Amino acid sequence: MSQIPDAGMPQHILDEIFMRQALRQAHLAGEAGEVPVGVVIVHQNQVIARGYNQRETLHDPTAHAEMIAITAAADHLKSWRLTGCSLYVTLEPCLMCSGAIYLARIDRLIFGAEDPKAGACGSLYDIPADVRLNHRAAVTSGVLAVEAGQLLREFFQSLRQASRLDDPGDDAQGNGRSQ
Ligand SMILES: [Zn+2]
Repeated sequence: MSQIPDAGMPQHILDEIFMRQALRQAHLAGEAGEVPVGVVIVHQNQVIARGYNQRETLHDPTAHAEMIAITAAADHLKSWRLTGCSLYVTLEPCLMCSGAIYLARIDRLIFGAEDPKAGACGSLYDIPADVRLNHRAAVTSGVLAVEAGQLLREFFQSLRQASRLDDPGDDAQGNGRSQ
């Protein structure tokens, strides 16, 4: 894997370093014509899994960046329990992905832009804060949110220009976010 940041760095600096890697994944999604959302999963300060939205490419409504990266991380650790892992995603996770983050027992969730139309980590729902669940990820939001939001806006703008649609209607990884 790429360079390992110094574990002694302040957490917010580490968070930006890893979020930049998630943004790189989001760019890959955009280049493939997918809504640009990207993820990295970090374990012991190393990136162990990456993913980007591939809903269109795979014809799969569950092929969100988070789901792809969670599966890859579990495969890497040979365990469905991702205890000790942090998930960095450029956009607030939806209900499905928030559920998967919960089921995988991920310790920390760090996201960039909020998703007011479909976000399930504070916007529409707040799954990580639901005390009825027996595991809750600690959430840090707004990390490189400007960059993540800009990427999404540019994507939807180019989509509108290409198709002359008033509104793409379908969002983010397909949940209703219209930029
Ligand atoms: Zn999702």
